Amino acid sequence: MLRAVSHSLLNISAATLRGLVSWFESNKREMPWRNTRDPYRIWVSEILLQQTQVATVEPYYNRFVKTFPNVEALAKAPLDKVLKVWEGCGYYARARNLHKAAKQIVAMGGKLPQSSHELRKLAGIGPYTSAAIASIAFGEAVQVLDGNVERVIARVTCEEGFITEKSVHSKLKATAEVWMQAAVKAELSPGALNESLMELGATVCKPREALCSDCPLKKVCVARKTRDDVTELPRKPVMQTTPHYDIGAAIVRKNGRILITKRPEKGLLGGLWEFPGGKKERGETLEECVRREMREELDIQVEVGTQIASVKHAYTHFKITLHCFECKHVGGEVKLLHVTDAKWVRPSELRNYAFPKADRVVLDILTNS
Ligand code: SF4
Repeated sequence: MLRAVSHSLLNISAATLRGLVSWFESNKREMPWRNTRDPYRIWVSEILLQQTQVATVEPYYNRFVKTFPNVEALAKAPLDKVLKVWEGCGYYARARNLHKAAKQIVAMGGKLPQSSHELRKLAGIGPYTSAAIASIAFGEAVQVLDGNVERVIARVTCEEGFITEKSVHSKLKATAEVWMQAAVKAELSPGALNESLMELGATVCKPREALCSDCPLKKVCVARKTRDDVTELPRKPVMQTTPHYDIGAAIVRKNGRILITKRPEKGLLGGLWEFPGGKKERGETLEECVRREMREELDIQVEVGTQIASVKHAYTHFKITLHCFECKHVGGEVKLLHVTDAKWVRPSELRNYAFPKADRVVLDILTNS
């Protein structure tokens, strides 16, 4: 009988929702953005939290709001400065979009829009982030459906379908809507319901471990009552293996300076500086790759010397090994063929530029050698 619940919306009582919110009030983790009602700060925190763990986000959040305390300060700052403050946090499109959206907000009068619908018109704000900001900062009754909330609802309703399927996502979303309406009827704040579910997913109903005996939803949770292992939900199709690329990069030296190049503003690591180079092609040696990349990107010739670093790094959908070589510039003037900018920089000044993580490891090797 209980299995039938998994294919219908799970109604939830006001008492259960009150229990959930009061569990949150007593158990929530301290986070700097939880002590503010400032929509700007809530927005910055939600963007930082999109791809990054809470513990990692905290220092970046503190640094970001200290450097750019309000939307005007962020809009006025040069993008290079924003990227430098963001450096190391990854997923740099988030920083570029924050900056772009700040300019949009200032052009609209300086205040963040209050509805999720209007918030979605800003750069970098999708359905999840708009719902989080609108409910937490402005009390709009719109439900958040991030990975944590999806997992909690999938387990409470014992959803057996693949989470990647559209119909499953729609079912979970419909349940979240029912819960939000029930919360509003019970005079609970929409932001509190969303934050409670997100916190429950992050700290109790975790991907590989469910602490069911501590859970405020244990009495209504169907997975807990019917399954031996609740962590098998939500179900996901088996992932393909992650591709790996070897990247050849050059530390090109001339007159005591090192050549760095800027990536195009759109796309992966957009607007960041790096040591020039690119993906090794099949059948090519790393040295050949470096010489070819210097010709194709910058129209220069280099003599490839010793390898000084080999750095592994994982992105969301692929992994790289960055092989870095000392190189001597032996011909050609730098032309911006496939880069946005290029500079010859003194080694002591390299840290003034925002670099991706793998290049920063190379930078550490360079400055410590
Ligand atoms: S009872 Fe267990 S499985 Fe169900 S929501 Fe709570 S922690 Fe998750």
